[in-house]
Amino acid sequence: MTPPPVYKRVLLKLSGEALMGRREFGLDTETVNAIANDIKAVVAMGVEVSVVIGGGNIFRGVSGAASGMDRAQADYMGMLATIMNALALQSALEKRDVPTRVQSAIPMASVCEPYIRRRAERHMEKGRVVVFGAGTGNPFFTTDTAAALRAAEMQCDALLKGTQVDGVYSADPRKVSGATRYEQLTYLDVLANDLGVMDAAAISLARENHLPIIVFNIHAPGAFAQVMRGEGAFTKIIET
Ligand code: UDP
Repeated sequence: MTPPPVYKRVLLKLSGEALMGRREFGLDTETVNAIANDIKAVVAMGVEVSVVIGGGNIFRGVSGAASGMDRAQADYMGMLATIMNALALQSALEKRDVPTRVQSAIPMASVCEPYIRRRAERHMEKGRVVVFGAGTGNPFFTTDTAAALRAAEMQCDALLKGTQVDGVYSADPRKVSGATRYEQLTYLDVLANDLGVMDAAAISLARENHLPIIVFNIHAPGAFAQVMRGEGAFTKIIET
């Protein structure tokens, strides 16, 4: 018999790069579809799922600032980029009959809902996936911080960080042979050793709110559902 899910409500953080597949830029439809299939499987387990999506595959504020643009202006462009990704994921999910709502931290009434916490919670209770776009709505932040913030607001049981590898390693396993994967880490380990899982603001917010962070491979088909059953490979970040 398949074990029941370990978590009732989760938030999945997807970076924009996770949607790129093998491309150098933008969205790869097959990759978006594969992620939508995985989310569908988790929703079918009865888990309430929300998603915070990044925009690094389209535009990053720091790159804009590096080329001479005003940083805040560039960050707003970055936030708008996340909305494109959110709409793409919504489309892929709804094609798979998974009811999905996009909520934006920057109101854009003709495109999606504005972010309203209680409404988002209601959507999730009804089995809808909520995709949070436009990060926190503020420049100088990242979508990692937005993910920790929304997960805390939504009282999620865990923050799932979908990455290119199946957890946090002692070194980049794609470059260093013999790099080992940590089964478990503390928030302080991540901060003190600058492990680069998520930015420090996100880690601190998760720590203050006792929110476990689970790092897993978003590109391994079925891994999201496995992690929800407490199986498979991942790194768990907790207080002790
Ligand atoms: N951004 C922002 N405030 C936020 C979240 C994001 O200004 O609360 C901007 C910032 O410019 C960032 C871009 O949006 O570079 C895309 O987000 P991020 O880099 O976090 O995306 P990811 O790396 O997850 O793809």
